[in-house]
Amino acid sequence: MKKYDYLIVGSGLFGATFAYRAKQQGKRCLVIEKRPHLGGNIYCENIEGINVHKYGAHIFHTNNKVVWDFVNSIVEFNRYTNTPVANYKGKLYNLPFNMNTFYQMWGVTTPQEAEQKINEQKAEAIAALNGREPANLEEQALTLVGKDIFETLIKEYTEKQWGRSCKELPAFIIKRLPVRLVFDNNYFNDCYQGIPIGGYNKLIDGLLEGVECKTDTDFFNSEYREWEKYAEKLVYTGAIDEYFDYKLGHLDWRTVSFATRIEDTPNYQGNAVVNYTSHNEPYTRVIEHKHFEMFGQEVYNTPKTVISEEYSTEYKEGMEPYYPVNDERNNKLAKEYLNLAYKENNVIFGGRLAQYQYFDMAPVIERVLQIQNI
Ligand SMILES: Cc1cc2nc3c(=O)[nH]c(=O)nc-3n(C[C@H](O)[C@H](O)[C@H](O)COP(=O)(O)OP(=O)(O)OC[C@H]3O[C@@H](n4cnc5c(N)ncnc54)[C@H](O)[C@@H]3O)c2cc1C
Repeated sequence: MKKYDYLIVGSGLFGATFAYRAKQQGKRCLVIEKRPHLGGNIYCENIEGINVHKYGAHIFHTNNKVVWDFVNSIVEFNRYTNTPVANYKGKLYNLPFNMNTFYQMWGVTTPQEAEQKINEQKAEAIAALNGREPANLEEQALTLVGKDIFETLIKEYTEKQWGRSCKELPAFIIKRLPVRLVFDNNYFNDCYQGIPIGGYNKLIDGLLEGVECKTDTDFFNSEYREWEKYAEKLVYTGAIDEYFDYKLGHLDWRTVSFATRIEDTPNYQGNAVVNYTSHNEPYTRVIEHKHFEMFGQEVYNTPKTVISEEYSTEYKEGMEPYYPVNDERNNKLAKEYLNLAYKENNVIFGGRLAQYQYFDMAPVIERVLQIQNI
């Protein structure tokens, strides 16, 4: 008999949730992780008593009560609500676009006035097209929300994200730009959202409790490459092109980089997320991590704070692959790799790297909870 039922490559949410369920079924698992820590991209580093989201700010949100109850059975979640603020040339605007934003932009105080203003500006943009379809992202966004919102909150931010002018970006990138005619700064529409009390590492530790784990172990450079010697089945959450030794070519990724520093003040920006929507600053967002988990007086009980500036960066080999590039070439290539994956016996491919797809955290958990016969 082999030593393990499952060898699980990767200790992110997919691998950890799978290991949790397998353990519940009495299965023997080994989780291997190439990084020096467990948790994948939700891992937090404790700096000055603050949980710092090392691989980017993570806010858990879902409409799925089963998923919400599941994560809360591992660790209780707090009441954090994402209410980002945009800073355009020193002036602040609430996000997502709602009555607070419209008041800040135009001084309008009723939904009727706001709607009228937006409709006027949309009509101008549509008239300028002379009956043709929007040819680029700029024209598309102008027809959806009009000139003021586009120029203040979308244009330069999007250009920083993509490193290209909005006139050069395709229209399809922005399909909808919802506006809310209510005073509601809650970024997500989901029923449930929050952050694990004590941080995301508690969630991962809870999921992996009692499971054998090895960090600093890369599947491809270890004895586990010949996984059949050790386990009945393989759960693979690493990059799908790497699994197949890039035999059809490399998939592209987008990445972001973070400049993190300690500030000698208890409260640097008064909010977890501030977007910088002009070209005046090279970064797209500044995250102040303590506001995810500290509220009211708690903010001042920790004398320092940790902030991360977030930069959109062109992906080069060796960098963290964060977002799949869903253009024609990459979608086609990913499909070809996924077809190869279906033919692999006793291997489960799961998670964002193996499926070459952007997933929020909740859908990753949902997918693992849906797997039958673990
Ligand atoms: C910048 C950013 C911000 C995000 N913010 C949010 C948010 O606010 N809310 C939300 O719901 N979701 C958010 N997400 C999505 C969230 O990060 C993912 O849903 C989640 O990380 C997916 O988990 P995973 O297990 O698929 O992947 P990962 O967390 O990436 O785990 C995969 C693991 O496999 C390991 N691995 C890879 N190859 C090997 C190998 N060869 N050998 C051993 N180990 C290997 C990796 O080191 C990694 O630890 C965000 C994502 C990004 C990129």
